[in-house]
Amino acid sequence: MDGGTVLLANVRLADGSEADIRMAGGAIVEIGPGLDPSGAERLDGGGLLALPGMADGHVHLDKTLTGLPWMPHPAEPGRASRIATERGLRATLPPPAERASNLVRQAVALGTTAFRSHADIGPDIGTRHVEALLEVRAAFAHAADFQIVAFPQYGVLAAPGSYELMDEALAMGADLVGGIDPIGQDGDLDGQLDLLFRLAGKHDKGIDIHIHDPGEAGLQEIGALAERTCVAGLEGRVTVSHGFCLGACAEDVFERLAGAMAGAGLSLATHGGGAFPLPPVKKLRERGVEIFVGNDDVRDTWGPYGNGDLLIRTMLLSWRSGFRTDADLAIAFDCAAAAPRRVFGQDDRGLAAGAPADLFTVHAETLAEAVAQHPPRGLVFKAGRLVARDGSYVG
Ligand SMILES: [Zn+2]
Repeated sequence: MDGGTVLLANVRLADGSEADIRMAGGAIVEIGPGLDPSGAERLDGGGLLALPGMADGHVHLDKTLTGLPWMPHPAEPGRASRIATERGLRATLPPPAERASNLVRQAVALGTTAFRSHADIGPDIGTRHVEALLEVRAAFAHAADFQIVAFPQYGVLAAPGSYELMDEALAMGADLVGGIDPIGQDGDLDGQLDLLFRLAGKHDKGIDIHIHDPGEAGLQEIGALAERTCVAGLEGRVTVSHGFCLGACAEDVFERLAGAMAGAGLSLATHGGGAFPLPPVKKLRERGVEIFVGNDDVRDTWGPYGNGDLLIRTMLLSWRSGFRTDADLAIAFDCAAAAPRRVFGQDDRGLAAGAPADLFTVHAETLAEAVAQHPPRGLVFKAGRLVARDGSYVG
């Protein structure tokens, strides 16, 4: 679906040059100065910086409270209380599709045109959250791409029935097999991984597994995941989400695991925030591990932070990584744009003729300024169609 031929005139590119961008058939047709506007709907970019649409590599759209009145954080410290609190409050909240839609509109208006969202699976909610996100994907297909992960929030073995529900969710259209701390949550590393890889094989899907487990447990989990990925022939299709243990291990252990991850094509999704060790972004990239960023929880019962703005996430990632130079800030942006596109199996060329016309404008002079200052957004295009203007969704 596209909106005809559009000429976005008068923008600045990341290399500092001034240009117009012609879009048609969902793709960028031509980029350059002084393009002929005839036959196109002309929109003035106002001299703003144009950047490729961002991709949120890890978000929980079904959990968000976006759009609801402010709610003080209700849980005690610790994951067990957060899970129990979420379960207790869920029935009192508007349905997940409604809350997810609020967040999608907001995030699209801030320049995000693709999401990989986890959707809770569990004995108490069945596959309802996956169904809700499938509904959201259909409703916003013109504004963003969606990958949905069938996420066993309560564990697979620890929550009997979850395996069958994940099986069902994948059959109904979920894109990836989720997982969570095989040791910490299920107390059985091989037991959970057996089931995840069985589902991946049965449905020909990739895997995206939350690994929060610290220390030896997390390291063991990532090592086992790399090994099994190669055995299963799933190279390039398995993601470790978080992997905090990689930010707090001995140098030789890190080198061994980073090598194993690169060999198996394991990618790593990070949220950049929180009081956890952050996996080293540049070191992982240098060793061939694709690392990308996502918002994770956006204002939900797990935490009060976030508004879906991926530029703020790139800023947090940069800040916590000790980045200061323009070159380093550009790496952080890559983690929100080209890197997740590669992991999603999408075109990663960004603003180039022939690439998808997914882009946004921002009140910044350079890419580094956009990351460090995350200024207001201007226009957002998905497949050449205007979907947001001045921070408001118009899709
Ligand atoms: Zn998560």
